[in-house]
Order: sequence, then C-alpha cells, then structure tokens
Amino acid sequence: MPIRIAVIGSGPSGFYTADALLKSEAAVEIDIIDRLPTPFGLIRAGVAPDHQSTKRVSRAYERTALDEHVHYIGNVEIGRDVSIEDLREMYDAVVVAIGMPGDPPLGVPGDDKIGVVGATKFVGWYNGHPDFADFKPDLDTKAVAVIGNGNVAIDVARVLVKTADEMAETDLPSAIGAYIQNAPITDVYMFGRRGPVEAKFTNVELREMGQLENAASIVDPDCLPEEVTGEWSDRDKRLRERNLTTLREFPNIDVGTKAKRVHFAFYAQPIEILGDDIVTGIRMEKTNVVDGRARGTGEFFEIECSLVIPAIGYALQPFEGLPVDENTGCTANDNGRIADGFYAVGWAKRGPTGVIGTNKPDGKIAAEQILEDISEGSKPGRASLIARLDEQGVRWTSFDDWQAINEAEIANARPKAPREKFVTIDDMLAVVDKA
Ligand SMILES: Cc1cc2nc3c(=O)[nH]c(=O)nc-3n(C[C@H](O)[C@H](O)[C@H](O)COP(=O)(O)OP(=O)(O)OC[C@H]3O[C@@H](n4cnc5c(N)ncnc54)[C@H](O)[C@@H]3O)c2cc1C
Repeated sequence: MPIRIAVIGSGPSGFYTADALLKSEAAVEIDIIDRLPTPFGLIRAGVAPDHQSTKRVSRAYERTALDEHVHYIGNVEIGRDVSIEDLREMYDAVVVAIGMPGDPPLGVPGDDKIGVVGATKFVGWYNGHPDFADFKPDLDTKAVAVIGNGNVAIDVARVLVKTADEMAETDLPSAIGAYIQNAPITDVYMFGRRGPVEAKFTNVELREMGQLENAASIVDPDCLPEEVTGEWSDRDKRLRERNLTTLREFPNIDVGTKAKRVHFAFYAQPIEILGDDIVTGIRMEKTNVVDGRARGTGEFFEIECSLVIPAIGYALQPFEGLPVDENTGCTANDNGRIADGFYAVGWAKRGPTGVIGTNKPDGKIAAEQILEDISEGSKPGRASLIARLDEQGVRWTSFDDWQAINEAEIANARPKAPREKFVTIDDMLAVVDKA
C-alpha cells in the first residue's frame, strides 16, 4: 500500500515537501490541505503585488499539484473542519506546513488602539486575502509609521507610495489600489530600533526605494557609519556594505521634486501609541546601539499619524493538538519531527526567516524522515477524509476548482494587470459553481 501523507498548508514548504516525496520514488499518495480554495500561501497573500516575478515560483508548485499522486483539498481548515487527531488517524503521516500567519503585539502602551494594524493584516488586506475582505484601514492620514527594518516593512512602504502607473501591472485588487491612490498620504516613516548595519533589508529591495516615480527615500547621513563594524560573516558584511552604499545615495532632505517621502528613520524605538481609542500619533525615543542592542537615550519625539503598522515578526496560529515550543514560538519539533508520523516544515518548523527557497531543505528533511519512519502505508487517507468532509457538509475544493478560479481571475484582469483577485471565499465558490 502506498504511504498516505497529508500536508497541512499549500505554501512553499508544503509544496517542497510534496515535491521531495515524489522525487523519492517511494509509493506515496499526498494530499495538500489548505484552509483556502486558493493555493500557494504567502506567494499569493504575502509577496508584494508589484513583485510578480517572485510570485512566478508558484508555476513549479503547480506542476507538483498536477502530479497524479498529489491532490489539493482546499477550503478545509484543520482544527475547525477536522481535528488533527482525526487526520492522524486517517493518514500514515501528517506534515504541518501552516506558516506563521499571526501578528505579534508591538508591546508598547496603546498598541491595541484602532489604527495599529500588524503587517500580516495589512499585507493580507492589500493582497486580497479573504480573512481581511471586511477590513479597511483608515488611510485618511498624511503620515504612516511602519515599525521594522526588514523587507516586509519596505514592501508596505513601497505599496503605499507607488503611483497608479507603477502599480498597473500588479495584482493589487483594483478597489484597494484606488483606495490607496486616493489617500492623502505624503510621508511614510520606517522606524528601526537599531541602525542601517543591523537592518535586515536585502539590497535589491532597498535599491528599489531609490527609484520610485513620485516618492523620495530619505535618510539622515549622520546615521550612516563609515564602515561596517561588528561580528559578521564575510557574506553578511558584504551585504551590509552594499546597503550602506545604497543608503548613501539617498538624499538627506526632500529635494522637492517628488510629492511623497519614505523616511528611513534609524535608531528610534516606539514608546507609546497616542490617541484615545483611535491612533493620533506615535511617541518615539531615539536610541543608540550598544553590543548590538538598542538602548533608549531619553530623547523623545512624536509623529502625528493615524496608522501605525508594526512589521516586527510573525506568530504561529496553532490549532488544538499542535504542540508549541514556548521559547521559539514555533511548533515543538526536533529538526521537523513532532512525533512518530507527525512532522513540521517551513515557518511552522523554524520561524519566519529566510527566503522562499529556504523552505526547500525542510521539505527534503521531512520526506526523508517520513520514509525512514514508515516503510509501508496502512491507513485509508483521502477516501476517509473526503467521506468525513462530505458527511459534515464541508464544501471542499479541488485543484481543478482552483484552476477555474485562476482562469476567471485572469479573465477579469484590468488592462496590463495579471489578474483581478477574488477577495471573498463566496466569490471564489461562485466561480466553482459556474465552472
Ligand atoms: C509579507 C511577506 C512578503 C514576503 N516576500 C517574500 C519575497 O518577496 N521573496 C521571498 O523569497 N520570500 C518572501 N517572503 C517569505 C516567504 O513568503 C515565506 O518564506 C514562505 O511563504 C513560508 O512558507 P510556508 O509554507 O512555511 O508558509 P505559508 O506560505 O504561510 O503557507 C502556509 C499555508 O498554510 C495554510 N494554513 C494555515 N493554517 C491552516 C490550517 N489550520 N488548516 C489548513 N491550512 C492552513 C495557509 O492558508 C497557507 O496557505 C515574504 C513573507 C511575507 C510575510
């Protein structure tokens, strides 16, 4: 009997696991289960809409999904529609590839006010994730504070200041694009507790910020050290030197030719979110870095704004029965192994680090562990899952259904755009019903 494996989550790590299992040439049947009818995890819902070339990695996942030994079962949430205990009864092996879809709290007074919107929520919103279809951030503000110095902070800033023309060839949902374009935002402040050397931006993303049509990226040259000091590998040192070179090319003041500004504001930590129930500003403290850690200097300043977007990390959203390591915030696992027949990959295994390709070795390791642990299948797999879903009246979807949704999105695209995303599950299912 083939080994029957359920992979929970259809992001990169889920697909790399399926791919590694197929390449092993063992007799396997793989079901990739996702809570959405649309596959590919953060490739669809995280990667910025103006980075279409990055999103193209999903074509390789599509090839995996079309393999005869792989099935996609969408619109099924483990923990809600089926318990993990039941799933483990049905399959020889279960792989958790659920990512880290939560926003951790900013951790300063006032961080629960209306207008503090974590990056997962904000990015999910502008990427048309159905979880945020009813959400609309208040963009009636001249300034926005983005907290964090990584690529996600840059993505958020860039999407807020790019022109309609610059966003034309993207899959930003049209209504959301129009809403952003109509906002009076002129200044986006990107605050980092530490300095430009410690910032986690990759150079390609940083350089892009110097080439925006109607937004100047600004940095105080006094924040830019002459050279990279500290304990870095040669590679990391080179990356940081490249970022410093790029930042030195940014002006230190608004040269006045562009209507918007992105302020790379280093050495500043949030102290308090201002306002009653609704954000009216943010109080910051200047910092310096001692032994790699930010220390407050006692010098404070405030920015008036009604939107604060912390882009400071991600949090696991575990379902009942999934063991969590309180120290790491990830699934409790030993190099991916949670228990016999139970594994974790991707962000759920090791936290929100690296690039898309960093998830690939996780898939290979999980495949090796599964084949080490289980030589022959003995459980019913898909037949019993589908029977259960049908019995419970759960409206599950297939990869064919996704392809129908995909085709409809492409057909609905405005000129130049690759697709017009459906942002509610009902709209997606309506397409499936018509197909
Ligand atoms: C905003 C943002 C932008 C990024 N941009 C880039 C970039 O430009 N380039 C780059 O290399 N990397 C980028 N990354 C990183 C990259 O997206 C991740 O490395 C990768 O997506 C992690 O893969 P994953 O499979 O672990 O999780 P995810 O991609 O998050 O996939 C998890 C999947 O699990 C599903 N799921 C969750 N819970 C359940 C459940 N209970 N039941 C069923 N299904 C469930 C979700 O719906 C989702 O489809 C970005 C990340 C973010 C957050």
